[in-house]
Amino acid sequence: MSSPPLKPVPLKIAPLTIAQLTGQSQSHLQEVFPGHFLHRDVVAAYLALVERSAEEGIVLRMASGFRSFDRQLAIWNAKARGERPVVDSEGKPLAIATLSEREQVFAILRWSALPGASRHHWGSDVDIWDSAAVGDDYQLQLTPDEYASGGPFEHCSHWLDALINSGHAAFFCPYKGAKKEGVAAEPWHLSFRPLATVCERALTPAVLRKLIENTDICLQSAILENLDEIYSRFIRL
Ligand SMILES: [Zn+2]
Repeated sequence: MSSPPLKPVPLKIAPLTIAQLTGQSQSHLQEVFPGHFLHRDVVAAYLALVERSAEEGIVLRMASGFRSFDRQLAIWNAKARGERPVVDSEGKPLAIATLSEREQVFAILRWSALPGASRHHWGSDVDIWDSAAVGDDYQLQLTPDEYASGGPFEHCSHWLDALINSGHAAFFCPYKGAKKEGVAAEPWHLSFRPLATVCERALTPAVLRKLIENTDICLQSAILENLDEIYSRFIRL
């Protein structure tokens, strides 16, 4: 039996509204697995990817699909208040209170998206892992080591790389390698290109500025003062 096509029939994806684009609406979503949502035009392509992975002995699981603005805001504020750890590029904890406000903003951005600017708001992006490679009690960390050579998800990672490089998947990995001055490497993060491209174009600095100005968010003035730099280092690919 042949596998289902991974490249979707060319989709006409309607642009998201600003509320959908920034995670404040869920009207573009469909539940894929209990508690896990993707954009309704992404679901078939994702399920085809899961089916294809099974041929390689991989059981592809979603760690995270859609994430709301409120969820991202809660993560951001907890990190800014020191209620959640903030770590440096090597994963070492940072004493957030000892940093300037600007430094705090950029330290949080290394591992957490600015609320409103997470690709997970769009329903096009998904964090994946392979449950066939680990035991039932495995605690997923989502660290580069797990996906690197010798890690439990090495096989899954190689398979995905080969698939993406072959041009036979509509998914790509936007955070493949760490950018020295940007987002850390996230080999587990996949993005459905036909939709993500539409969203990338729509999410302008002006959209984000207006959103942050109207949000009760920690470090608001430092975010607004540095928004152009935030955009070029952490949001635009
Ligand atoms: Zn992700």
